[in-house]
Amino acid sequence: MADIGREQLAGYLDDALGDAETAQVEQALRESEKLRSELKLMMQERDRGEHSLGAIWRRHRLSCPGRDQLRAYLLKAIDDGLRDYIDFHLDTVGCAFCQANLADLKSRHEEPKTRVEKRRRKMFESSAPYLEPPRRKKKP
Ligand SMILES: [Zn+2]
Repeated sequence: MADIGREQLAGYLDDALGDAETAQVEQALRESEKLRSELKLMMQERDRGEHSLGAIWRRHRLSCPGRDQLRAYLLKAIDDGLRDYIDFHLDTVGCAFCQANLADLKSRHEEPKTRVEKRRRKMFESSAPYLEPPRRKKKP
């Protein structure tokens, strides 16, 4: 793993690195917790205006985990390193794109079959009066 210095991290935050170097920094970030906390600090130092970390990170959509990875994250079926990275990506970076993606996956994942069936039954019941011949109600 290449050693990533503060200057390189700064360049990364400034979006001033070439593709290869950017990929190198991102790879290092995935692998090193120390580097992530260093980046976090630098982000906090300069988290204002055009350097707001949300704005910066949106430009780095590349570093977003894939939907498959998010699904695995949700199911807790990933290794610790990747889970930490996604935690970092979601919580520290606060990537709105991935948060939305995760929320979407979650809602699909958490909707139990019974709820779908219930809804289906409800739909049927609400349309049933139109399907059946009208019934006479007994008056009390
Ligand atoms: Zn993201």
